[in-house]
Amino acid sequence: MEPAERETTRSWLRCYRCWSQNLEVQVHYEGIHRIDPATGERADVVDELQEAVVQCLDCMHDQPHLGFSNGRVEPIADRWERMIAGTPWVASCTVTVDADQVEVCSGPEAADALSHAAFGDHGTHEFFTHVRFHKHDEDEIVVHLLVELYARSSEEATEVLEQAARGRLAITSLAEESRPPAATGEERH
Ligand SMILES: [Zn+2]
Repeated sequence: MEPAERETTRSWLRCYRCWSQNLEVQVHYEGIHRIDPATGERADVVDELQEAVVQCLDCMHDQPHLGFSNGRVEPIADRWERMIAGTPWVASCTVTVDADQVEVCSGPEAADALSHAAFGDHGTHEFFTHVRFHKHDEDEIVVHLLVELYARSSEEATEVLEQAARGRLAITSLAEESRPPAATGEERH
């Protein structure tokens, strides 16, 4: 494979915010295995659960465009191109959800619960979500948020927000930001 080609195939294997390739993966594994009666060794898997988070060691951000399976970091199909080729967009918006979608709306867990109610896993794992405030309206809760996400155009940013929203979405403003500066640790000493 030509070096240039290899570079293209691996263009996703970096921090989507600062381009650093200084990444690490935290793997949490829980498994239940049968025990082989003859050898005492761990044998067939009864049940297993693996959770992995890839993080950049230069800017310390999570890398939601990367997953981990079979001992290897892999790009997440419908997400990595948008995040690697995109720029940050900041949306001011509201999402109106059923009150019972919100687990808790006060105390230290509230921001996460409201972000998750508004945008599901995108709200807590991909977007930078800042809940400004929320209002109860009978059986509904209107969540007012500032959201930063990566996209290649304002249309794409809008589409991603619409698909992620778990309730009625209203976007008040959407603006492109400049990329954060590249980390200095990237092979330039
Ligand atoms: Zn980084």
